[in-house]
Amino acid sequence: MKVRRALVIGAGLSGATVARLLAENDVNVTVIDKRNTIGGNAYDKVDENGVTVQVYGPHIFHTNYKEVYDFLARFTEWVPYKHKVLASLKKKHEKKLVPVPFNLTSLFEMYPEKEAEAIKQILTEEIGYGKKVPILALKKHEDERVRKFADFVYKNIFYIYTLKQWGFAPEELGDEVMGRVPVYISEDDGYFTDTYQCMPKFGFTEMIKNMLNHPKIYLSLGKDANKMLYLSDNKIYFNGTEFDEPIIFTGCVDELFEYKYGVLPYRSLKFKFKTVNAKSFQPAAVVNYTVNKKYTRISEFTKFACPEKEKTVIVKEYPKTYKKDKNIPYYPIPRKENELLHKKYAEEAKNFPNLFLLGRLAEYKYVNMDVAVKNAMALLDKVLEEM
Ligand SMILES: Cc1cc2nc3c(=O)[nH]c(=O)nc-3n(C[C@H](O)[C@H](O)[C@H](O)COP(=O)(O)OP(=O)(O)OC[C@H]3O[C@@H](n4cnc5c(N)ncnc54)[C@H](O)[C@@H]3O)c2cc1C
Repeated sequence: MKVRRALVIGAGLSGATVARLLAENDVNVTVIDKRNTIGGNAYDKVDENGVTVQVYGPHIFHTNYKEVYDFLARFTEWVPYKHKVLASLKKKHEKKLVPVPFNLTSLFEMYPEKEAEAIKQILTEEIGYGKKVPILALKKHEDERVRKFADFVYKNIFYIYTLKQWGFAPEELGDEVMGRVPVYISEDDGYFTDTYQCMPKFGFTEMIKNMLNHPKIYLSLGKDANKMLYLSDNKIYFNGTEFDEPIIFTGCVDELFEYKYGVLPYRSLKFKFKTVNAKSFQPAAVVNYTVNKKYTRISEFTKFACPEKEKTVIVKEYPKTYKKDKNIPYYPIPRKENELLHKKYAEEAKNFPNLFLLGRLAEYKYVNMDVAVKNAMALLDKVLEEM
């Protein structure tokens, strides 16, 4: 059957990508979002001082997928941007800031010189200068000095930060959380290693607006799709009429099925924004508070490849427990039981042949923006083939 029309629920990056690609394949697409804005969590806006503020927290684009970079480059000019993060480690001397991921500069900042030299020598001789090594591997190293060093990094950079961020200790979370933490055996202070690291020149909202700007895309904002959809007997009704063409759903899948198996847990965040009457607030775009403070990090928007202004804007992030209908679900919590719960919903969704789950909420998986776009590109073929 040739697909003539489709519904896309959610105007975030996942929804915008699949909508654009469907439209370019001659499909009439209705995109619905319950917010009055496009871009999902990547939504940003320019404030009264000319600073681009990312309303749902700092978003930095980075990817190794050339096809994703090229696709998005059709809708934005890119500005090169190398992201740097510092960590505030000490309880009493908060001014001590070291690069993260932890590197040789951080090592010499935190250790007496002789000890730092000895650890550096072991790391460079055994693993190699320029290499990146997971903290877990260092924790098992045969040399006691390296093990102690790894324990120090684990405790001061990772452990308390993880407790704050997730409400769980690292060992209570899936391996992907632990596996992500490297130590750099070099002075490299770049946070990401991807080939393409950049920001859209006029912001993510503008880029996504261009993606949705297509004669075959009809955008409907401020509408909760769950109030328009009714699912029964393998059929989906949209505003009371059966809709048998593709429905790509990027919202919370438990909500779609009226929480019949229970609520999927998320970590939520509270953002406290502040305009500061100075050109600069802190020495890096992001400073993580890994051992102290209730917030996890402070981000400064004028440092994200945004031209300096007379004033700057910062945001503090306070992790919170997610409460359905009370705050926003941000991060799916990577725990086995949550995956199993999501699987029940994913199985339920299979009863509806024209329903496709896509994106971080529907698939209950943290994905970076590039992966969100890549997954949406991959879904296009599935939608066109299966229908
Ligand atoms: C704090 C934070 C920081 C991040 N930083 C980065 C970063 O630096 N780099 C990076 O690459 N990625 C980052 N990400 C990940 C990035 O946000 C995601 O990759 C991206 O948002 C995924 O897009 P999405 O469209 O799947 O989901 P979303 O952006 O969440 O979009 C889903 C959309 O669906 C809408 N919706 C939901 N339910 C309904 C409904 N019932 N009816 C109508 N509409 C509905 C929502 O309103 C929303 O607009 C970050 C994420 C968070 C939470």
